[in-house]
Amino acid sequence: MMDIANKIKEIAKKLLESGEIDVFIAWEKGNFDYQTRPFFARTADDVEKIVFDEYSVHNLANFLLKYRDGKEKIGLVVKGCDSRGIVRLLEDSQFQRDRLYIVGVCCPGMKDPLQTMKDNSGLNKNPAADSLAAKCKSCIQPNPVIYDELLGEQQNPGIEGERFARVREIENMDAGERYQFFAGVLSQCIRCYACRQVCVACNCRTCIFDETRPQWVGRETSIEDNMMYHLVRASHMAGRCIECGECERVCPVNIPLMLINQKLVKDVSELYGPYEAGMEYIEGAKPPLSTYKENDPDDFI
Ligand code: SF4
Ligand code: SF4
Ligand code: SF4
Repeated sequence: MMDIANKIKEIAKKLLESGEIDVFIAWEKGNFDYQTRPFFARTADDVEKIVFDEYSVHNLANFLLKYRDGKEKIGLVVKGCDSRGIVRLLEDSQFQRDRLYIVGVCCPGMKDPLQTMKDNSGLNKNPAADSLAAKCKSCIQPNPVIYDELLGEQQNPGIEGERFARVREIENMDAGERYQFFAGVLSQCIRCYACRQVCVACNCRTCIFDETRPQWVGRETSIEDNMMYHLVRASHMAGRCIECGECERVCPVNIPLMLINQKLVKDVSELYGPYEAGMEYIEGAKPPLSTYKENDPDDFI
């Protein structure tokens, strides 16, 4: 990975020195080996801090939202999942392609700094022997789908086992069991909204959960309000979630959010597809539930 890191630095330096971009988004090292974190280089000197290593797991596409109203040109590194996030933002008209210089990296799979921190804390009694991030064990697209320059060797999808096996287990429960299952996991949600903040598809300027006039969803962490939060977020993700797994990765109480997302991925593909969100960028294209025709079936209303 050192070779790739050096190439990234070379490209970033060239782009910043020539004035082709104003900011380059990549990763830098924190205090510990596992503390790789997002980094914003603005000068050629900053570039020296850039790293690309086994902990470069974060989806950097989400940080483009901080620049969506400006005119800055942005360079950034994308793995497969991040690149699908870029397609999400372009399809949602949240960014313009000509403001981006995209350095794609074929991704061999990453470790999760948060998980490693928990494992090293001594609080986790059963640290995983194989510390590949959970999201990388169900990755269907490790290679970037959109880029200006591509680095590294093409990788095979890291998916382990049958893709929707866990979703099918939940589908096979009866309604009562399913309610108990979700009531159990969602009752632990502390409504910190980390899953929303980290999500590239959660890109509304005003979020329904922040509004107070009217207040659409209560602020309590009651099971009713928690379920409403997760149901509304899920419905907003249908056909739009690019399966980057960041929401589940950052959840401080380990709620299996990808179960909900994968159910939506599976249903949207079966009902409107085959369809996988963010797999290619076609100007003007929209995900299935973002368009309608006047003669769409509506007898369920
Ligand atoms: S989800 Fe895929 S592309 Fe993203 S970090 Fe994991 S292996 Fe790489
Ligand atoms: S990150 Fe976890 S605890 Fe926080 S709002 Fe999302 S599901 Fe709830
Ligand atoms: S819902 Fe989760 S997996 Fe889907 S795009 Fe958002 S952060 Fe990524």
